[in-house]
Amino acid sequence: MKSKLVKIVTALSLSVGLLYGASTTEAATKDMKVHFINVGQGDSIYVKTAAGDDIIIDGGNRDGSDIVSYLKKQKVGDIEVMIATHPDADHMGGLDDVLKVFKVKSVYAPKVSNNTLVFVDFLKAVKKEGLKIKTAQKGVKLPLKGVSATFVGPVKSYSKNDTNDWSAVLRLVYGKKSFLFSGDAETKSETDMINSKQALYADVLKVGHHGAKTSTSAAFLKAVKPTYAVISVGKNSYGHPTAETLNRLKSGKVNVFRTDKQGNIIATTNGNSLSFNTKPAVNNSSPAPAATYKLTASLNTTSPKQYSTVYLYTKGMPSGTSYKAVFHYKTTNTAYYGKVGTSLPVKIGRASTSFRVYVDVTASYKGKNYSTRTSFIPK
Ligand SMILES: [Zn+2]
Repeated sequence: MKSKLVKIVTALSLSVGLLYGASTTEAATKDMKVHFINVGQGDSIYVKTAAGDDIIIDGGNRDGSDIVSYLKKQKVGDIEVMIATHPDADHMGGLDDVLKVFKVKSVYAPKVSNNTLVFVDFLKAVKKEGLKIKTAQKGVKLPLKGVSATFVGPVKSYSKNDTNDWSAVLRLVYGKKSFLFSGDAETKSETDMINSKQALYADVLKVGHHGAKTSTSAAFLKAVKPTYAVISVGKNSYGHPTAETLNRLKSGKVNVFRTDKQGNIIATTNGNSLSFNTKPAVNNSSPAPAATYKLTASLNTTSPKQYSTVYLYTKGMPSGTSYKAVFHYKTTNTAYYGKVGTSLPVKIGRASTSFRVYVDVTASYKGKNYSTRTSFIPK
């Protein structure tokens, strides 16, 4: 089946090329793009799959004109899937405007209602398009080609007041790369998703609830294991993103993008590699380069007088590091102890003239051992 399909596609693009001299780069593009649109305090994500399908997840705040113009710039035609993660104004706000401008084929939302004006506007707009809202809940798959798009949340029903935990959470997989869009899901929902034993792993996590401390629990981060996190956030009075969440992301070695600091964040993947339009605002993944030390030792003289005092100098390690210096005299070995950076006086009463005394210095630092050698010949 597959090879047949490839042949047909090849034949098709060949004939198109022959007939119109058209470039086939468009057809050859195998990239999926995920746009985290900067909508200030709120969420709006636009996905263009490699197969050409358009998905919009949330529509930012009340005024949808900025999203509409963004989508127009991206030359969006029809929108295959619209997802309203939950009925809060900062997510559902502009979706009615999107519905008015674009032909939307299907709309998904969790089974929770709200009596806010935003929600009523959204319902009206959906109805006007002759659409019925499909329920977004754990296990529901989006019928899209070339990707696996499954809702992993909400797992359960929550109280009407917990609109955040009702958030539709979509896991989108293209090839080897995956995204988790967690809406405003908070710890309760995160825990239910973990306990439901679904695959939650994602290379990119859209951080829940704009970086509130009540989302992105350590356990959830452990289950998702993201390499990248995107925080969709703007000026707000809630303290988003919170230090608690930023610290958990740091502990999890997750690189963080922020729409408030970087504007629109665009991820591109061909299913194997993943790139972004900008560098992370916070790079937590690359560990601080391991400090490399080279212990060296020297003496104030290499030909001291017999019975004199020599001074051993050590460097190349953090000063104060303890070391052991073993002097290999002709008849015996004697150990002396010192600290790197401080000269160590050693009375060489036992040294025989003309016999080379080797000095082996060893130190250990943070579980690693270092050693060096120097020597002298008494006159
Ligand atoms: Zn929100």
